[in-house]
Amino acid sequence: MRDGLHGPIVITVGESVQLLAAVSGGDAVHLVRRQKPTVPGRGAVPDHYLTGGDSERDAVGRRYDVEPLREPIWEHTTMCGRAWALMVGGDGGTLSRYREPAFAPTCRRCLTLMDRLFPAPAVDRRVPVVAQKVADVVREHGYAEVREVPGDQLAALRKEIRSLIRQQTGQPAQTLVHRVAGSVTASGQGAARGL
Ligand SMILES: [Zn+2]
Repeated sequence: MRDGLHGPIVITVGESVQLLAAVSGGDAVHLVRRQKPTVPGRGAVPDHYLTGGDSERDAVGRRYDVEPLREPIWEHTTMCGRAWALMVGGDGGTLSRYREPAFAPTCRRCLTLMDRLFPAPAVDRRVPVVAQKVADVVREHGYAEVREVPGDQLAALRKEIRSLIRQQTGQPAQTLVHRVAGSVTASGQGAARGL
């Protein structure tokens, strides 16, 4: 990269690099994966945003190192499967007068898919113990609440609770997360009707 100039606006997710990109007709910021080395990809910014001799394009050339932006290394569709127009502007400012700079993805589908690229968090050894206790209480009272569950253990705890209750009662159970209190409630089928 030439000194002081900006290159592709990317974020690193796990071990992969993703380009932040915009599609036509929407403000959401999407993610684009790098193309596999054997397959030709496309550049981060189409040529007509970089050349043309007008003041807007000249300004982009003064702020960005345009050669890396032209490199055909990106997939042709976003992670969520849409054709994309160009990368969003970042620290180097906008690439198009119609787009604001952005620094993070906002497309919900891309964000969901991005989450799957992170390794699953290690399950705390207390999760099975807490889940068993919850299952016992639900069997007895039909309902249980666990407070202050760490966010990265929520999914594992809920899954374990549902699985234990199903195994032990033969009935499905549901768990609900109360975000504000950071708590999980679990209820067996009979109790759920009375809630
Ligand atoms: Zn998307």
